[in-house]
Amino acid sequence: DRTVREIAAGEVVERPASVVKELVENALDAGASRVAVAVENGGIDGIRVRDDGAGIPPDEIPMAVAKHATSKLDGMDDLDSGVATLGFRGEALHSVGAVAELTVRSRTPDADTGAELVVDHGDEGDVQPAGCPVGTTVEVRDLFGRTPARRKFLKTPATEFDRVSGVVSAYALANPGVAVSLEHDGREVFASPGDGNRRSAVLAVYGREVAESMIDVDHESDSGEVRVSGLVSHPETTRAGREYLTTYVNDRWVRDGDLRGAVVDAYGGQLATDRYPFAVLFVDVPARAVDVNVHPRKTEVRFDDDADVIETAREAVRAALLEHGL
Ligand code: ADP
Ligand code: MG
Repeated sequence: DRTVREIAAGEVVERPASVVKELVENALDAGASRVAVAVENGGIDGIRVRDDGAGIPPDEIPMAVAKHATSKLDGMDDLDSGVATLGFRGEALHSVGAVAELTVRSRTPDADTGAELVVDHGDEGDVQPAGCPVGTTVEVRDLFGRTPARRKFLKTPATEFDRVSGVVSAYALANPGVAVSLEHDGREVFASPGDGNRRSAVLAVYGREVAESMIDVDHESDSGEVRVSGLVSHPETTRAGREYLTTYVNDRWVRDGDLRGAVVDAYGGQLATDRYPFAVLFVDVPARAVDVNVHPRKTEVRFDDDADVIETAREAVRAALLEHGL
């Protein structure tokens, strides 16, 4: 039984960053206006995600950690018509509980107290009353502590933290109306204000120089089917890697090499060798034109009409730079 649980868990739980991604998505799905992420030792020793969202009633917490349990689907129709919420597989919490010590503590707005449930490497405890604020806190300790073969694949804490930071940054940038914060070993790394302003989120995550260099992008394809909007940096504000090119398709964070390539392309020869711009770029296409479910971790997409999306992204960034004489 343990083997089955562990294999299933492998699909969504690979490393601290993949756990953080699932927990942050759940917090956003719950309508949180604040999401506070704190990790220890790159997330290897501990992960805590606290939100002020809708919460989970005590009697529903066991459901939340059960296999294939989701409160977000009414039937297969939702899968066909594009996906309204970020999480919809109902396997994240269950998968985490199978390979770590998972604590879910929650309180709904109408309840006087909250409740908590611990799942210790697959062994589920009883729901206990717990004092806590409205919303949900999920804590994960001892990730892969009983599965050394999986633990072996983790990199150094610094590398794991870089990935955690990349995930939390991507969600903070895409959700400027939500106050998102990240703490590592007790130190605040960033905290976005949640004021709804995209530039404020960039300021919090990347700092003043990058925020001030950002140029607005907003462009539609001739067909009217594809819209590309967001922010890209001045060609002199760059980094050595591509990881600061953050892209979203229909508000879902994706890492697409072609999309990043199109953005870089739009700068022509203006970037120094091996330097890449910052981007926070949103691509909107009709739901039927994109398949977001090609990967269990849901960070890859497949476009029906690849060329049109990629070309529109390139045109969009080119037009924005041109408007600034670049
Ligand atoms: P999914 O998100 O695909 O439904 P998860 O395993 O991530 O599956 O979560 C299972 C269920 O637990 C969710 O459907 C939701 O009802 C509940 N849940 C999880 N996290 C939260 C949260 N932060 N706030 C409120 N409910 C939550
Ligand atoms: Mg989920």
